Amino acid sequence: MKAIVFNAHGGPEVLKFSDVPDAKIRPNEVLVRVKACALNHLDLWVRAGIPGVPIPLPHIPGSDVAGEIAQIGAEVTTARVGQKVVLAPGVTCGKCAACISGRDNYCRQFTNLGYMIDGGCAEFVRAPEVNCLPHPENLTFEEAASIPLVFQTAWHMLIFRAELQPGEDVLVLGAGSGVGSAAIQIAKFFGARVLATAGSDEKLQKAKQLGADHLINHKTQKIREEVRRITNKRGVDVVFEHVGTATWDDSLASLAAGGRLVTCGATTGYDAKVDLRFLFSRQLSLLGSYMGTKSELHTVMKLVAEGRLKPVVDRVFPLAEAVAAHAYLESSSQFGKVVLTV
Ligand SMILES: [Zn+2]
Repeated sequence: MKAIVFNAHGGPEVLKFSDVPDAKIRPNEVLVRVKACALNHLDLWVRAGIPGVPIPLPHIPGSDVAGEIAQIGAEVTTARVGQKVVLAPGVTCGKCAACISGRDNYCRQFTNLGYMIDGGCAEFVRAPEVNCLPHPENLTFEEAASIPLVFQTAWHMLIFRAELQPGEDVLVLGAGSGVGSAAIQIAKFFGARVLATAGSDEKLQKAKQLGADHLINHKTQKIREEVRRITNKRGVDVVFEHVGTATWDDSLASLAAGGRLVTCGATTGYDAKVDLRFLFSRQLSLLGSYMGTKSELHTVMKLVAEGRLKPVVDRVFPLAEAVAAHAYLESSSQFGKVVLTV
């Protein structure tokens, strides 16, 4: 089969559109004919190499897959050949206490398609039967592939970790990112007021169309000052972080007393400082969050099928142009998802 594969870590140029051996399924797995695979920042890190994470080489990246089932393993009972599916990115043991309690993103063996195992930037990908979710009829393959990773991550952050309540104020950083555009919609769905930041007025207008109530251009305005002004000096209840070093100080300074900062990433760097006096005296919570559960993704897909949450597709590239797609995502000029079609 054709696939995007790399044999060494590096820049986008290490990605090669090549012939690779066909994926072989296990009895509890399905083989999916990939129609679309959305990119995530995770793909950029996996390609560049992550210290201490031995990605098996050669490697096929890609976590967010929509397609059709081409083949099923002998033990598969709930999926049929020809069915349109969206794949949950998280692959776990399915047997440990975390998995059977439904908190599969706490599984010690947790990985994503395209992370420690081959992913969806290929004509075919194998995945456990339990990862198959119905493809919403109202979506194209490109739109469906844009949902899983960012929406389950944003849902887990806001709802499970930060326990967002109706009427609260949420600061969503990096509204133009996939995870930011998902967070705006989820926060609005739960009845929150959303303050969104982005680096251009064009992106901010798109954030507004998704429901953001207040817009902050982080290139021309100071985030903490705008938050103080908009909230009458109170600060926000929840800060949705994934940017890291570049925004960390503003994020902390933007919290109201009792506020929660939830983070799923560190795109601009992972060095951060916390003034402990500020942390305890204002009774703040700093929350880490990693991916999301399959159960949360089922909830998200139901809401997407009902049209209450919407995929945000920025740009579509053919699979063979993965190098250009990675370079484009790295430039941070997108609003929403960058998707490869197969
Ligand atoms: Zn497990």
